[in-house]
Amino acid sequence: MPNIAPQSKDTPKVAIQETDYLIIGAGAVGLAFADTLIDEDPDCHITFVDKHAKPGGHWNDAYSFVALHQPSAFYGVNSMEFPSEQIDTHGPNAGFSALASGPEISAYFEKVMNMRLLPTGRVAYHHLSEFKARDEDGIAHVASTLSGEQTQIKVRRKLVDGTFYQTSVPSTHKRNFDIAEGVDVVAPGELPDLWKTPDSLPEHYVILGAGKTAMDAGIWLLGAGVDPANITWVRPRESWLWNRAYIQPGADFFEAVIGNQMAQLKAAETAQSGEELMRILGESGHYLRIDPEVEPEMFHFAVISEGEIERLRRIKNVVRKGRVQSITRGEMELQEGTHTVPGNTLYVDCTARAVPFSVAANGEQPLFEDGLITLQPLHVPLVTLSAAVAAFLEAHFDTDEERNALAIPGPLTDTPATYPHAFAVTMLNRSNWSQNPKIAPFLTRSRLDPSGPTMAKMAAEGDTRLAIMGEFAQLAVKAAPNLRKLAAKARKIHENT
Ligand SMILES: Cc1cc2nc3c(=O)[nH]c(=O)nc-3n(C[C@H](O)[C@H](O)[C@H](O)COP(=O)(O)OP(=O)(O)OC[C@H]3O[C@@H](n4cnc5c(N)ncnc54)[C@H](O)[C@@H]3O)c2cc1C
Repeated sequence: MPNIAPQSKDTPKVAIQETDYLIIGAGAVGLAFADTLIDEDPDCHITFVDKHAKPGGHWNDAYSFVALHQPSAFYGVNSMEFPSEQIDTHGPNAGFSALASGPEISAYFEKVMNMRLLPTGRVAYHHLSEFKARDEDGIAHVASTLSGEQTQIKVRRKLVDGTFYQTSVPSTHKRNFDIAEGVDVVAPGELPDLWKTPDSLPEHYVILGAGKTAMDAGIWLLGAGVDPANITWVRPRESWLWNRAYIQPGADFFEAVIGNQMAQLKAAETAQSGEELMRILGESGHYLRIDPEVEPEMFHFAVISEGEIERLRRIKNVVRKGRVQSITRGEMELQEGTHTVPGNTLYVDCTARAVPFSVAANGEQPLFEDGLITLQPLHVPLVTLSAAVAAFLEAHFDTDEERNALAIPGPLTDTPATYPHAFAVTMLNRSNWSQNPKIAPFLTRSRLDPSGPTMAKMAAEGDTRLAIMGEFAQLAVKAAPNLRKLAAKARKIHENT
């Protein structure tokens, strides 16, 4: 969060506006928080300040073929479904719940702001505006980016920091490798423009980066008909990925989803490390990796289908010599050596880290502090569900002590070794929520909770498949002691990050 500096005496005086909650950031997280708070606290007034021209945060800057990697059915805000939540019939996601595309996500968040929040008359939105600081009198200082006009906003209750994740995407991130003159490097968002220059297409493509964006770029190039032999992929680390077959909403997928959670608990009962936990789940197919011969050193909660994995395995030119340091025409300098490529190569820069893990790793900052809410993951990695739960806690509990007891921040982890910390925090929060007479009913009606409404509906219909939850509860108890040990080990690594 930006530093909270005292107001300068030279600041020109302007009219003071007032609000109960000032949310910094109208991205997915700030919007999910506001959407729940506006219903749960019918008296409150909310003001958003955001640097972007439109709501939706980083989705405004995403590459055109970006999509959610989790089903749309449990993303966004509680009050509004995505227009398309059907089962996909074709492509690598066939048979599974739809994944909203980037433009659909942007349109969705615009609708949340313009057709849901602003019409309540209890929400104000300062777009193209930067939150600068809150002074000792609780006045927030906001500057309009284009006009420079200053606004002062008296925050009656709390400042809400919706910028914790510091999401970075290819089109806005700062490259940390050098490029010589004559080398063509593009962000993935520029690939669809290649049709405009049919006479000067590249001979070869190099994808830089090992994360989900790089995977999307690979699938896009293959889908566009590029011969896999003409693609080189610089993949410094291999990643474990969640198999999307087990991350699905609704009763039709209940057995698969619960089976996956039970497999995780069984693995957590015996594994001696996060790496071993993932190896076990990799063998059972709950976790996937592109190259089965390489031990993954990365885990960013990315979700993928087996169809996508199959496509990506067609790219055989994989360079594993660490991160790229510099590129000259025909040659890449990497951390562990050089690699030559044809002179007429187009580099696709997918090296932006969606979330800087050094920042989001520790989970040490309380969610609720005096006059400040810092939105962080509670059910890792479901950031919009976590924000909605935070809003519910704010509205229905009296003290920050009570709220924080139900809102232990979990880290967004970077590696298999650190994952058990996030896993344990999620289990702990979920267990506390399930026993809380206020939160448990909220979750049964929260569309952002992948299992709450499904299980409530199944219970209402007397679905006998729910009997397995008894076994689930026993497994959770059995796994708890070893999971705590794994989590403590993982937490130590986080602390030294
Ligand atoms: C390609 C990609 C795909 C993803 N897919 C998924 C997915 O399928 N499921 C999932 O759960 N998550 C996914 N994520 C994670 C994703 O980051 C979150 O879902 C979510 O969109 C993050 O929202 P946010 O509000 O935290 O951040 P942002 O979208 O970055 O929003 C923060 C906002 O704060 C504003 N801001 C920052 N500082 C200031 C300031 N000082 N003053 C005013 N405004 C400020 C910024 O302008 C921005 O609009 C994905 C991320 C990426 C990059």
